[in-house]
Amino acid sequence: MKTGKTERPGKLYVVATPIGNLSDITNRALETLASVELIAAEDTRHSRTLLQHYGIKTAMLSLHEHNESSRIKQIIGLLQAGSSVALISDAGTPLISDPGSRLVQAVHEAGLQPVPIPGPSAVSTMLSVAGQPVERFCFEGFLPSKAAARRKQLGSLLTETRTLVFYESSHRISDSIQDMKNAFGASRPCTVGRELTKRFESLYRGTLAEVLLVMQQDENSGRGEFVIVVAGAEENPDKSIEAGQSMMDVLVTELSVSQAASLAARMSGARKKVLYEYGLGKKGK
Ligand code: SAM
Repeated sequence: MKTGKTERPGKLYVVATPIGNLSDITNRALETLASVELIAAEDTRHSRTLLQHYGIKTAMLSLHEHNESSRIKQIIGLLQAGSSVALISDAGTPLISDPGSRLVQAVHEAGLQPVPIPGPSAVSTMLSVAGQPVERFCFEGFLPSKAAARRKQLGSLLTETRTLVFYESSHRISDSIQDMKNAFGASRPCTVGRELTKRFESLYRGTLAEVLLVMQQDENSGRGEFVIVVAGAEENPDKSIEAGQSMMDVLVTELSVSQAASLAARMSGARKKVLYEYGLGKKGK
């Protein structure tokens, strides 16, 4: 490891790296990675490919979800001793659905100021080509992996008018889009981005029902990494949904979800399916 100067504290640089295409890295990111004393990387083996590609020989240390707390003291100590450290994750911007948040907070608490080195993130990359409104958006990251919790989370977003952005893996892409279709309705516009900036980059755009169908018919569409962008709810929301949900809050305490949804749909005018999904979420099913 290179040795830093000790008179002044070093800097923590939070450095964005490519989300697929290795050329998507800024000059400033490369200069920073080459000049710091240490790179804290989510997975040192993974990041070695990037560093080797650019001939960067800086020492690395792992910093991931499971050791972040224990690394904080070590890194703050290095910064206070005058060494500078760069934080990177496997892809994109650290902290965005990636480790680093506790370290950055600790750096502030130690009276130091982290330095951003901006670059790619799957969320901004996807929004730039999704063809959905981007004036206001709501980044939801990954939905819960368990079906009941996922549906509950989607239920809480029914009246969200901002464009919604989700991250998803190949394991759950189909289930998640199916759940979104059930929650938001088959006709809600959406765009799914797969393998952005990589060889098999694809965009699927249409209603949730159309995108689900197209993806089900394309056997490659379930492979890779995904960002899902769903248009927000209409600005003047259908009051019947809110009314139906309030009814469901009471009815599911006494009736089955199906019975409660039937009654609430008849009384409120909202769609039974939407209320049924909401009821499942409430009951934690
Ligand atoms: N820190 C990253 C960022 O700034 O986007 C996100 C890391 S998160 C652990 C990984 C998720 O980001 C993937 O499961 C996928 O949802 C999304 N993602 C990352 N790279 C992607 C790509 N090239 N194409 C599509 N989605 C991608």
